[in-house]
Amino acid sequence: MQPLVLFNSLGRKKEEFQPLDPANVRMYTCGPTVYSYAHIGNMRAFLFADLLQRTLRFVCRYPVTWVMNITDIDDKTIRGSAPGSPEWRPEMGEQTPDPLENLRRFTRFYEQAFKEDIATLGIELEHIAAFPRATEYIEPMQELVRRIYEREIAYISQGSVYFNVTRWNSIDKYGKLVTIDFEHFRKGVRIDADEYDRESVADFVLWKARKPGEPFWQFSLGGEQCDGRPGWHLECSTMEYVLLGLPFDIHTGGIDLKFPHHEDEIAQSKAGYGVEPTRYWCHNEHLLVEGEKMSKSLGNFYTLRDLLARGIDPMDIRYIMLAAHYRSKLNFTFEALKAARRARRRVQRVFDELAAVNPAEQVTIPAMQQLRDTVFSALLDDLNTPKALGALFTFLRQHPVAAMTPAERAEYKAVLLHLNQVFHLWNPEGESPAAVEIPEEIRQLAEQRWAARQQKDYATADALRERIQQAGFRVIDTPSGYHLEPIEE
Ligand SMILES: [Zn+2]
Repeated sequence: MQPLVLFNSLGRKKEEFQPLDPANVRMYTCGPTVYSYAHIGNMRAFLFADLLQRTLRFVCRYPVTWVMNITDIDDKTIRGSAPGSPEWRPEMGEQTPDPLENLRRFTRFYEQAFKEDIATLGIELEHIAAFPRATEYIEPMQELVRRIYEREIAYISQGSVYFNVTRWNSIDKYGKLVTIDFEHFRKGVRIDADEYDRESVADFVLWKARKPGEPFWQFSLGGEQCDGRPGWHLECSTMEYVLLGLPFDIHTGGIDLKFPHHEDEIAQSKAGYGVEPTRYWCHNEHLLVEGEKMSKSLGNFYTLRDLLARGIDPMDIRYIMLAAHYRSKLNFTFEALKAARRARRRVQRVFDELAAVNPAEQVTIPAMQQLRDTVFSALLDDLNTPKALGALFTFLRQHPVAAMTPAERAEYKAVLLHLNQVFHLWNPEGESPAAVEIPEEIRQLAEQRWAARQQKDYATADALRERIQQAGFRVIDTPSGYHLEPIEE
């Protein structure tokens, strides 16, 4: 089989993926900041990472160690857990006098919600080797700050510790994922915020001085007392070092994390540990909603839970996210969601038809091999899902199950099961017909139609089919009889 090729943000080109250790591919995904329910733009990043790890696991056949951190301390979680915060919920219990305990109650609630959400979207939690929480890695974070400080690439200012970007750029290079305009670099300017844009590049914070009423940890550095808490970038650099070792294979995240978060991760790791975190940086593009950037003021801001409350099937959301190439902007619309539903159902119907078939142990029929190879070769080419799904639909159109021999059906089922290990979009058991309510009147019409067909009275059979359709149902003839299902809108 051809090798996996990925677009590497480091170098900005497609590259063949070569694992450091084929017996254990190590991958890190920047996880959620647990201060609210994740929105569907966040979900795109996690579903992209899931597709990548499934491709590594089920197409390339590598064992994978996938780590996704939980950011449970940063500006937003501190704000959300502060006394009197409107984001505090009764389910979190009473607030206590201890800010760290409040932070814990607040973030655990959203961490749990996050895990439920990704599981709802078909990410199997067993595939994730660890969900490290930043607050449980404070000591190694302090150790990393110390290393950078001792190399004189960091300095203390008013109890906070900052990374000296100018100094680092004279030793190595700051600006590996994005181009930095050092002409306009604001020397001596320091940035305390976790998020900022490229125009305001400056010395960034590694460790933030304690503020009244906020959680903090004791820390003495260079003879000074620097009690406080970690900066966001430092958290990821430390957890990936502790849990995966450096360098590891692949780091994923949304494109908005490229700068400053990932650029700063590279600088910190190289300055402190002497090695860059990873060899392959893979970023997914933004998600737009109804053509616009998602924002609360535009009224196009959705969490997964908002969509589920509208009765939307989470697997249709998974489909729409996976069907677009991860490096193209995805315009999420309710119309597109309906189309996604129809497309996904078309494949589900094949699984339904094959529900009673035992999958073949080997795939030997050339047409079936070709289906599998075409889909996988598209995935191996930088996860080209539009092409992969296109190949699947072409096959579906050209090869109705009804026309297949038993051997073909068994191999078809085997191939579809293999594809579904990667896409994880369909129910291989078939969807229970009992779940669909079919009115008695429609059943009788279908019976009459079947009888007319048996007598080769096709005019009557067609007229009856028409009446059934007008009532919102579809008849599908199968070798063993017929099948009724509601017509999707
Ligand atoms: Zn991160």
